[in-house]
Amino acid sequence: MMDEIYLDYQAAKPIDRRVLDEMIPYFSDIYSNPASLHRSGDIATKKLEESREKIAQFINAPDDSSIIFTSSATESNNLAIIGAAQRYKKKGNHIIISEIEHISIFNICKYLERNGFEISKIPVDQYGIIKIDKLKRLIKENTIIISIATASNEIGSIQPIKEISKIAQEKKILFHTDAIANESVIPIDVQDIPVDLLSLSSNDIYGPKGVAALYIKKGIRVNPIILGGGQEKGFRSGSHNLHGIVGFGKAAEIMKKEIESEAKRLEILRDKLIKEVINSIPNSYLNGHPTNRLPNNAHFRFDFIEGESLILGLKDQDIAAATGSACSSKTLEPSHTLISCGLLHEEAHGSLLISLGRYSTEEDINKFLEILPKIIKRLRLLSPLTPPELLKQYNEVNN
Ligand code: PMP
Repeated sequence: MMDEIYLDYQAAKPIDRRVLDEMIPYFSDIYSNPASLHRSGDIATKKLEESREKIAQFINAPDDSSIIFTSSATESNNLAIIGAAQRYKKKGNHIIISEIEHISIFNICKYLERNGFEISKIPVDQYGIIKIDKLKRLIKENTIIISIATASNEIGSIQPIKEISKIAQEKKILFHTDAIANESVIPIDVQDIPVDLLSLSSNDIYGPKGVAALYIKKGIRVNPIILGGGQEKGFRSGSHNLHGIVGFGKAAEIMKKEIESEAKRLEILRDKLIKEVINSIPNSYLNGHPTNRLPNNAHFRFDFIEGESLILGLKDQDIAAATGSACSSKTLEPSHTLISCGLLHEEAHGSLLISLGRYSTEEDINKFLEILPKIIKRLRLLSPLTPPELLKQYNEVNN
């Protein structure tokens, strides 16, 4: 894109060139609506269904028709939770989520709360892993949905999703998982882990933005939240974004083949990054679980540092990173995830999220490791919060 070291893959990913090549004819040459009955409409339908099949294969869904296309991960989460809540409200009105869900899940639940539903949040431990015993205690007669993301998009902690899905299954409660943070680095198998609803997005596997999907297990019903011409078997009306869906299908096909080797490569880069940051920078800490974390995620906290100043310092050196979730980056509030892990507000403010991806290189990491300690040192030398011992340590190294 530019001469920038891009370490913010959790916020957005580039489209893989192979995906773009597959999409191009669908912008101009093949433009018909799959709903049309003419010959070019048939061609569009065939391609639409091919993409659906590729996405079903990507998550090992037994039935292609369980994939419903949407416009974004946010919409998939809305369809899953609002759609299921409305469908099953006669059975109960209680929904369980965790304290560290994505903001879209929080806002959906706030809306449902205003409309007569009761929401409980499971706390997490210091590493951001949900407490299974608490989950069991929160389940009631009227619980209809449990929604827990497979992994945190912020601190990268991976949840015991298999255990959670089994508990939900035993209690006959619908289980939804948001798989956005992990879909590029942890293979998804909806037959191995019995989920009822699973949100996926195209851009998070190097496909185009503006297209996503919800897996709805066969037999599960959700009420539509977008009404219209009845596309997607009535689950989601609106003409199909065919070029986007074609790209999503291709991205899923590539990801299925490459996910394991890609995750291994990223894990090596991540481990080097974590080790060297913690070793080279005094008063630095890793947030999230030390090992049970996404292979592409490193989330740090530095004492006496303000996260935004650090991002701006990195930006000056052409390095793109984040303090946390891009979806909440415009608020001045500390991250709800870090607070739930037990951090103080001032600790949560000094954080840095590094997320790696398909085009991250060792050279990028080396450059970052060379620059980061210098920026932190400069900020700490200017900060009134830096204690005298640390200032002395920095000044001694100078001489
Ligand atoms: N869930 C998670 C875990 C996310 O990280 C995001 C943001 N990428 C979303 C949902 C919402 O995605 P979008 O903004 O593309 O709808």
